[in-house]
Amino acid sequence: MKCDVLVVGASPAGLMAAISAAKGGAGVILLDRDLAGLDHAANTLFEGMAAVSGVKVEDCYLKKELEGMRILSPSGQGVAIPARGYFIDRKKFDEHYLRLAQSSGVTLLAGIAKKSRLEGSRRTVFLNEDEIEAKIVVDASGVSSGLARGAGLAPMRHAEDIAWAMEADVEHPGLGEEMFFLYWIGSMAPGWKATFSPAGGDRATLGVFVRGHGQNVQPFFRDFLKRFKAYKASQYRDIGDLKILSVRRGGDPICVMPHEMAADSLMVTGGAAGQSGLAYSMRAGSICGSMAAVAVATGDVSRSGLSQYETLWRREFYWQYRMGRASLQTLAMMKDEEIDRLVHGLSGKTLISAGSFAKKAAYAGAVVALFRPKTMLDLAVNLMRG
Ligand SMILES: Cc1cc2nc3c(=O)[nH]c(=O)nc-3n(C[C@H](O)[C@H](O)[C@H](O)COP(=O)(O)OP(=O)(O)OC[C@H]3O[C@@H](n4cnc5c(N)ncnc54)[C@H](O)[C@@H]3O)c2cc1C
Repeated sequence: MKCDVLVVGASPAGLMAAISAAKGGAGVILLDRDLAGLDHAANTLFEGMAAVSGVKVEDCYLKKELEGMRILSPSGQGVAIPARGYFIDRKKFDEHYLRLAQSSGVTLLAGIAKKSRLEGSRRTVFLNEDEIEAKIVVDASGVSSGLARGAGLAPMRHAEDIAWAMEADVEHPGLGEEMFFLYWIGSMAPGWKATFSPAGGDRATLGVFVRGHGQNVQPFFRDFLKRFKAYKASQYRDIGDLKILSVRRGGDPICVMPHEMAADSLMVTGGAAGQSGLAYSMRAGSICGSMAAVAVATGDVSRSGLSQYETLWRREFYWQYRMGRASLQTLAMMKDEEIDRLVHGLSGKTLISAGSFAKKAAYAGAVVALFRPKTMLDLAVNLMRG
């Protein structure tokens, strides 16, 4: 098989890369090993992130609207951040963008990419029995991707900081009626951070994200489940017979930094390049796909031709990722008592809900500095470390 652009992985980034490249005039194949039954983790999307990423949230996959996020400290105190968000039906989300890909002229193909080899200005990807020759291969196959690394790229800095995660769909009468996404930090979140996302009615998902303890997250999840039940009991709700319906596992690169994203005839996008989050990786995929189409049209698929993608991505997102990593690293340095004090100080205050990203970040930084001045110093050090 031959094509202009082969996208490996129907991840949010891969789907958008395929759609953008096809819209730009390239002949595109989108390959995924689980095409018939995609079962991806990640189901919560915030409007602000979608807006920054230029992603239009579609009604056809929305399940429940959320009023914001509540950050909970180890002692159970919370600070609410008003921000419109959504619990999405992930199957419908994937189906929507797969349909969009097909209607844009993308050919969908089921199969596993094993490795790639550069031959002249073409790259061949080897599947179990077939080979696909493409002018450009886009690796969008997630954090465990071997394609980019196999081609000599280091797509992430700090890959050791990938958070290995487990997400469980759970059920209990009325559990999904909560209007806020809950986010625990400190010792309440064994391993690093833990989340609760209400899906409406009786359904919700619980997530546990673990850094620095390998990929077996199960014991951390069991521990968090116990703590979550105790937290609910403290709110006079006995959820002892909570049902776990299904479980998904994966790696979240939220704390790593994207690094090398292009080589000759190869581009890397989404989790494979350390670009975490649904909306952000969709935007990264769109930039990647558009630039792939331009490179096909001009005939320059060399590393330097494709690096325009890296340049455009950096212009839009580099400092946001750098600030995000520094903030998360700073939070991880705080002791439980410090987090409690900080959250206590912030509770009752309305954190800014409108304005640009820079304005919100500056405001949040000023408020945090008021309660824990050392935070700014830690943040500056983490920012310099990159
Ligand atoms: C448990 C968990 C919960 C999360 N929750 C959220 C959330 O609520 N909101 C949010 O914004 N972000 C969330 N994230 C982060 C988010 O999932 C990712 O950052 C984002 O979806 C990008 O996905 P990805 O690029 O890692 O690809 P993935 O979603 O991992 O997709 C990779 C695709 O590539 C395919 N593939 C892999 N290898 C091959 C191969 N060799 N050949 C062919 N196909 C292959 C796979 O089948 C898969 O379809 C979560 C992450 C995890 C792990």
